[in-house]
Amino acid sequence: MNEQLAESIFLCRPFQPGEPVLNRVLVMGGDQTGLELANRLGREGLEVLLVGNEAGAQVSESVKVMAGSVLEEVHGFVGRFEAVLRTAGERSRERVGFIVAAQPAEIVPKYDAYGLSKTPRVMALSDLESMQRFGDSVEPRRGDWFHAAFLLGLQGESEPTEFARVLKAIQRLQNEERVQCYVFTRNLKVAASGLERLYRESREQGTVFFKFDTDGSAFEDGPEEFLMTFKDPLLGLEMELAPDLLVVDERLNPPRSLGPLVDAIPSSRAASPFLKHDSTRFAGVETAKAGILAVGPSRGVFDAETIAGDIEAVVLAVKKHIPDSLNSALAGPPEIDPARCTICLTCVRLCPHGAISFHKRAEADPASCVRCGICAVECPMQAIRLEPPAGEEDLIERIRRGLSNTGEGAKRIVAFLCARSAAQALESVGMPIRRKITPIIVPCAGTIDPGHILAAMEEGAQAVLAAGCYKGNCASVYGTVLAAERTNQARHALQEAGIDPDLVMFASVAGNTPATLVQTIRHLEAAVDRAFAKNK
Ligand code: SF4
Ligand code: SF4
Repeated sequence: MNEQLAESIFLCRPFQPGEPVLNRVLVMGGDQTGLELANRLGREGLEVLLVGNEAGAQVSESVKVMAGSVLEEVHGFVGRFEAVLRTAGERSRERVGFIVAAQPAEIVPKYDAYGLSKTPRVMALSDLESMQRFGDSVEPRRGDWFHAAFLLGLQGESEPTEFARVLKAIQRLQNEERVQCYVFTRNLKVAASGLERLYRESREQGTVFFKFDTDGSAFEDGPEEFLMTFKDPLLGLEMELAPDLLVVDERLNPPRSLGPLVDAIPSSRAASPFLKHDSTRFAGVETAKAGILAVGPSRGVFDAETIAGDIEAVVLAVKKHIPDSLNSALAGPPEIDPARCTICLTCVRLCPHGAISFHKRAEADPASCVRCGICAVECPMQAIRLEPPAGEEDLIERIRRGLSNTGEGAKRIVAFLCARSAAQALESVGMPIRRKITPIIVPCAGTIDPGHILAAMEEGAQAVLAAGCYKGNCASVYGTVLAAERTNQARHALQEAGIDPDLVMFASVAGNTPATLVQTIRHLEAAVDRAFAKNK
């Protein structure tokens, strides 16, 4: 663990019921998006600190531009974060209720990937765009026609925003006379607003698209001409092109200044290079940590229309918590027994939502905890207890009662089902299928531990199913990965005990795929039959 994170967890304590939410927002800006967001929040009556933009930017009264400041650390939780900033070598601490990442992406031309370097005839897309913006002309043509070739996504898939930029640059070139444009690509993605139309128009204007299955072309920059040699995969022919201009595509990297925010959300590093997880569960601008929001390139989005929508989504997300305190959001986080806790920090590292901190003792923030229960299962000292919802029995009691109600002739199958995925699928299946299992609904598949599975077998289950979200779409970021691992541990334990491990399985079941759940139950029934036949 880095020192910064260690310091943060020891310094901060969770939100206390009754405390007000701080009416201040720290916006990590750097370009027009940060400025627009800050002004928009300012117009909503929020106090805004804008970091990353130049001094002298036009801002509303309630926006303070902290030019030259850099965010170094973030401590705390939604409603009361502490941001440590460095300005001209001096460290300062600011208390804010929310932090929004709205920095521009780092644009890196892919010269290296193609073995090219920048010359007057070879340039990055951004360079061509700025020449076009300032009305500068590109190199004079060598013949009657000006030939411009664009490399786009030859190393993988094209990025829709970049494809749109290429098509717009081509449009501007085509406004001049006798320009022939070529686009060399591998997998074109046109899934963005208006992009398909732009693509069709460009083709109609004479742009030629070459699709590559291999790495693309060889390049030779001679004194007379720049030569591109490639094989057309459709015709199978070796071809040559001597473009007057070769435009290289660019990689859009997450802003480097995201670091302190990534540290504040332990699951971020594993999930995505940007601040957002790939999971569709974190809708729009929300991240896995309550109160930290991400806009545009900070969440891997680059098109202007979506970024404009992001700005409005931030306003709504922030206002959701203001003016009231967060008390209404408190769901009862896990209780951590200080007498058992050895401060190993396992729970801090594993909580996908950055909800646990240390301030004299381990505590979970009620407003950040989603009650997934992962910490309770992972604590090596069993110091964490997540109370079942009011009125609900202990897990083993639920297993016992469920199994005792198994119908005549039915197999005894215990199914641990994640409340946010597989349990929803169960609601859509017919009663005859529902009667085939003893469902144990858990808040997150990550709370299923091998002990639960083995306990179910001990209580008389013939087979056990653990079912959670699909990887990459897990409500608790990696609860489903933990569940699959732990199911495997239980299978190994059974195998060592001479019991068929196929009687226990993990399955990913989305809420809208009840058929997968039905198939899985049938699969387990067949496993029970096979095991029974073997033992006869
Ligand atoms: S995992 Fe358990 S023992 Fe370790 S810090 Fe958390 S509560 Fe304490
Ligand atoms: S229950 Fe889940 S979200 Fe809450 S503190 Fe534990 S690991 Fe974090």
